[in-house]
Amino acid sequence: MRILLPEKVKFIINKLEENGFEAFAVGGCVRDSALGRRPADWDITTSAKPREVKEVFSHTIDTGIIHGTVTVMLEREGFEVTTYRIDGEYTDARHPSGVTFTGNLLEDLRRRDFTINAMAYNERAGLVDAFDGMGDMERGLIRCVGSAGERFGEDALRMLRAVRFSAQLGFELEEETRAAIEALAPQLARISAERIQVELIKLLVSPHPEEVRTLRDTGISRVLFPWLDDMFETPQNNRHHCYTVGEHTVCTLKAVPADKVLRLAMLLHDVAKPCCRTTDEKGEDHFKGHPREGVAMARHILKGLKLDNDTIDRVCSLILWHDDNPPATPRGVRRAMNRAGLRQFPGLFLVKRADAQGKNPVYLQEFLAYVDEYECLYQEILKENQCISLKGLAVTGKDLLAAGVEPGRAVGEALQELLEQVLEHPEYNKKEILLEMLSHRA
Ligand code: ATP
Ligand code: MG
Repeated sequence: MRILLPEKVKFIINKLEENGFEAFAVGGCVRDSALGRRPADWDITTSAKPREVKEVFSHTIDTGIIHGTVTVMLEREGFEVTTYRIDGEYTDARHPSGVTFTGNLLEDLRRRDFTINAMAYNERAGLVDAFDGMGDMERGLIRCVGSAGERFGEDALRMLRAVRFSAQLGFELEEETRAAIEALAPQLARISAERIQVELIKLLVSPHPEEVRTLRDTGISRVLFPWLDDMFETPQNNRHHCYTVGEHTVCTLKAVPADKVLRLAMLLHDVAKPCCRTTDEKGEDHFKGHPREGVAMARHILKGLKLDNDTIDRVCSLILWHDDNPPATPRGVRRAMNRAGLRQFPGLFLVKRADAQGKNPVYLQEFLAYVDEYECLYQEILKENQCISLKGLAVTGKDLLAAGVEPGRAVGEALQELLEQVLEHPEYNKKEILLEMLSHRA
């Protein structure tokens, strides 16, 4: 196996070797290269101690010096160079109590999580694959290095990483690895929200977001995302539906583009359905108010996962309006744009189309045609630069004060009234017309 190393990576490896050390590209970059994918970054592992790495290169940054990581800067590009190490004992399923440097590459590879992540490569030695990572790549398997039970006991996050990699690569969990997750999933409760978030987002924006099913099947979500289990346990006896809330959610995840906000919105758009479900006398289920209740739940969940406020706001707005179906008329659409705010568009159309993909196919074509029409009208409103919010109104509070409106609440109320008129009749959005209308107000 030959891997084409970037020039700068070759330079770093050569330089370390010239100074009497070993050095290899390692981990994700070797895995991705072997799969014919473009690595996101190139990590280097070396027998040189951090101090020695710093002596070899002129520009370095102490990124994680106690863990042995130094960033080597080459023309503003950074490469993480980490000393071969053995993790100390894991006393709490999260942090090694200390790290020990070693001169032996194999020991460094042995501490890594999965066989496909435990390969190293340089041009001199070729591929170092002591745990049959290549074999597992061919078989399409995520398998722990060594005993799965021990490895998950050391660091519980690896269980979530296993599912994340299977979603990114389209691989299966190897049997022992899967069984160990089923046995040890409760230990994930001890992992920090930040680390969970990173893995969940990577899983969601992967080519196989349907792997959220595996989160449930292995018991991971029972511990980390119990609301997901609730969704899978909630039927939808309703003519518009043919799946449980959970299966519906999976369909919609697959149907929306791989974007963080959109995938989170799909994951959570029906999160409140389990608690909003009522069954009428004919046995039909209804989920009244689930978008609004869903926003409250999603906010809580996403805050708990330490997502940033901007992401949370965007996701929550999409959830709030996902089920909003205005009449496909210019004024209906202007009103919908006013309600939801411009920022939700055009993402909201993607959400609505994806949502439809997970419902009773009988109504699919009709609904998609409606969304097309909705979007056309939206485009036209944008093109004509029609006013859909107070910001676009041709008069401001100042204008109203100058026209004699009492300062205070009356100004806001008058603006709102004029906006209502303009949403109905965009052609009224001219200063003279609006001031004229104001003077005729009761
Ligand atoms: P990505 O493409 O998402 O960056 P990656 O494989 O590079 O994937 P990283 O989280 O960047 O994943 O980690 C780099 C390498 O470090 C991994 O390939 C693996 O060898 C090792 N590693 C990372 N996290 C762990 C962990 N929790 N336990 C054991 N080894 C780990
Ligand atoms: Mg990486």
